[in-house]
Amino acid sequence: MDFFKPLNVESSSVQKELTGESEKIECLILGSGPAGYTAAIYAARAGLKPVIYQGLEPGGQLTTTTEVENFPGYPHGITGPEMMEQLKEQAERFGTDVRWGMATSTDLSQRPFKVVIDEEKLVEAETLIIATGATAKYLGIESEQRLKGAGVSACATCDGFFYRGKVVAVVGGGDTAVEEATYLAGLASKVYLIVRKPFLRASKAMQERLTRIPNLEVLYEHTTKEILGESNVTGIVLTKKGGTAEETEVTYDIDGFFVAIGHSPNSEIFKPWVTTDDNGYIITTPGTTKTNVAGLFACGDVQDHVYRQAITAAGTGCMAALDAERFLKEQI
Ligand code: NDP
Repeated sequence: MDFFKPLNVESSSVQKELTGESEKIECLILGSGPAGYTAAIYAARAGLKPVIYQGLEPGGQLTTTTEVENFPGYPHGITGPEMMEQLKEQAERFGTDVRWGMATSTDLSQRPFKVVIDEEKLVEAETLIIATGATAKYLGIESEQRLKGAGVSACATCDGFFYRGKVVAVVGGGDTAVEEATYLAGLASKVYLIVRKPFLRASKAMQERLTRIPNLEVLYEHTTKEILGESNVTGIVLTKKGGTAEETEVTYDIDGFFVAIGHSPNSEIFKPWVTTDDNGYIITTPGTTKTNVAGLFACGDVQDHVYRQAITAAGTGCMAALDAERFLKEQI
C-alpha cells in the first residue's frame, strides 16, 4: 500500500534527471485520497491548474473499505471506491490533470521543487501539496491478507458499525488499539484485545478506561497465529505464552478482526527536507498546512496521527490548496 519507495538520497534519480527536459507545474499534488482530491478541487477552482499523481493506491485507504457511512452528505452511505471515483470526477470537472504515477524521489532544497515520477519523468513544481497518506500496518499473515475487507479491518471507526451485537478482536497494545477496542465495545457484544506483551503500551488514562468496560477482555501475551474463515472471519487461533517457555494454542469464535498495530506515514521521500516527528508524520504549523519548507504543504494522514478520518483529511486538503494559492499570490 505504500505510495512511495523510500528515497536513497545518494542514488536519487533526481540527480540524473536534472539535465533532461522537465515539465513545469504551478501546483503539484501527490496522493489521491480525500485530502489530495479536495486540495485538487480547490486548487483547480482557484485557477492553479493542479496536476495530481495518484500514487500506488489510487483513491487511497478508503478504497480498502466497503461502506463509508460517516462522511457528511451521504445519508445512505457510499462505498469507499465509489466515493473516491466521485471525488476524482469532481476534481477533473474543474480541470485537474489526474495522472497515474508515483513520486519516486524529490529534491525540495529550492523552488521550483523537483519531483521524479516513476523514476523517469521530472516535474518541477512551484508549490507542492503532500497528500500521500499513511499506511496501516498489518501483521503479515496469509489469512489476514485473504480476509481483508471480509472481516479483517484496520479501521474501527470505518467498519465497527457492521459488528453491532457481534464478537470482535482487536490486536495491538498502543493508544490506537485501546481506542479502537473501547469504541468497538460500545457496539459489539464482546471485544477481545490481543496484546503480545504482559502490559499495554497505551497511556495510563487510556488503560484506565479499559477497566470500566465489562464486555472487553484483554488477552495479554497472546499473538495471532491464524484468522479462521473462508469468505468471512469466523474465528482466531492465538498462541499464548505460559509462565514457562511453553506455548499453547487457543481458539476464539469471532466475527471481526481489527488490526491496530500502528500506521506508517508515507513521508520517506520527503524526509531529507521536511521536518517530521519521531514516527515520520510531517509537522505542520498548527492551524495551517505549512511545513518547514516555504511553498510545501502537507495535508491528510501524512501529517495527522490523531483524527485520521476522511472528512478531516478532506478539510486539511482544502486548507492546503488555500495555503498554496495564498503563497503563490505572495510571490508576485
Ligand atoms: P504504537 O506504535 O504506539 O503501538 C503499536 C502497538 O501495536 C504496540 O502495543 C505494539 O506492541 C503492537 N504491535 C506492533 N506490531 C505488532 C505485531 N506484529 N503483533 C502484535 N502487536 C504488535 O501505535 P499506535 O497506532 O497505537 O499509536 C501511534 C501514535 O499515535 C502514538 O504516539 C500514540 O500515542 C498516538 N495516538 C494517540 C491517540 C490519542 O491521543 N487519542 C490515539 C491513537 C494514537 P509492543 O508494545 O509490544 O511493541
